[in-house]
Amino acid sequence: MPQHFDPQLVNDRFGDAGLYVDLVFQRRAILFDLGDHAKVAPRKLLRVNDIFITHRHMDHFAGFDSLLRLLIGREKVLRIYGPPGMIDAVEHKLKAYTWNLVEGYDGNLTIRVMDVDEAGQMRAGEFQGRSRFERTDCESPQSEKGVLTREPDFLVRAVTLDHGLPVLGFALEERMEINILRNKVESMGLAVGPWLRSFKDAVLDAAGDDAPAPVAWREGAAGRPATLPLGLLRREILKAGPGRKIAYVVDCAFTPENEQKIIALAGNADILFIEATFLDVDSAVAAARRHLTARQAGALGRKAGAKRLVTLHYSPRYKEQGDLLADEAQRAFLGS
Ligand SMILES: [Zn+2]
Repeated sequence: MPQHFDPQLVNDRFGDAGLYVDLVFQRRAILFDLGDHAKVAPRKLLRVNDIFITHRHMDHFAGFDSLLRLLIGREKVLRIYGPPGMIDAVEHKLKAYTWNLVEGYDGNLTIRVMDVDEAGQMRAGEFQGRSRFERTDCESPQSEKGVLTREPDFLVRAVTLDHGLPVLGFALEERMEINILRNKVESMGLAVGPWLRSFKDAVLDAAGDDAPAPVAWREGAAGRPATLPLGLLRREILKAGPGRKIAYVVDCAFTPENEQKIIALAGNADILFIEATFLDVDSAVAAARRHLTARQAGALGRKAGAKRLVTLHYSPRYKEQGDLLADEAQRAFLGS
């Protein structure tokens, strides 16, 4: 399967939870959680435009300051989504610093923050470097409840889980997997170039077969049409299939409500990234701390019909014994 999303854990499984997802063809990336991100190269962090935060325990949000330091003075819009109180939290973070010289910077860093409530409804606030990060309330661009962002290629949805406080679980879903057959493009005398991007967008927008699609030719455009019918290109150079899906779930108690929500969120995911914080022999501790055990995580992945299970957020009490957690989860996942 071609990799349209390239998801990578930010840290090892005992480190702060976090998932960096490279959107390979878009030169941008998405981050789930913002704890310690020292292991992510600055050039990779600069590609991040959207950050989805499960909750504001320190290990999930303490990386805000170092990211801010990297981004300050750049022309960029950073979007941050999180549970209720996120806008206030970012405002307090920004108020902790003095911004009297920020007008002199080249770029105007804009941070747009979205609070997501239990009903999946968003509220938005914005902070701009140019106005010394004063808070302004703004319209939320939400299309449907629970869907935080919907773009031509993909969407991100959220559910609220219980961890003694509201925690968001996320799924990233590609709308459709579209592959361009490069050899066909070339054998038609067409050039590989940016026009393929607009062609893909037209396909995703389900434009009609007769719609003219602008093309670029390999050896000059003289005597050749500037457009071809979309239907012809769709037939000749495209291979399409259902899109990929990944889900990210950390910090939640094993309750019937959470179970139901996680199974729905992660249904048929290609990869479910999920916490496996404790071994099942310590399930009483897990319940008291409102975390999942490895066995519970594996069973959830199995019930959701996920194709692959990746566990993270291991408790330090099992340091040097990470394999036990991973194995217990995989056994429950495979039902063995
Ligand atoms: Zn945590």
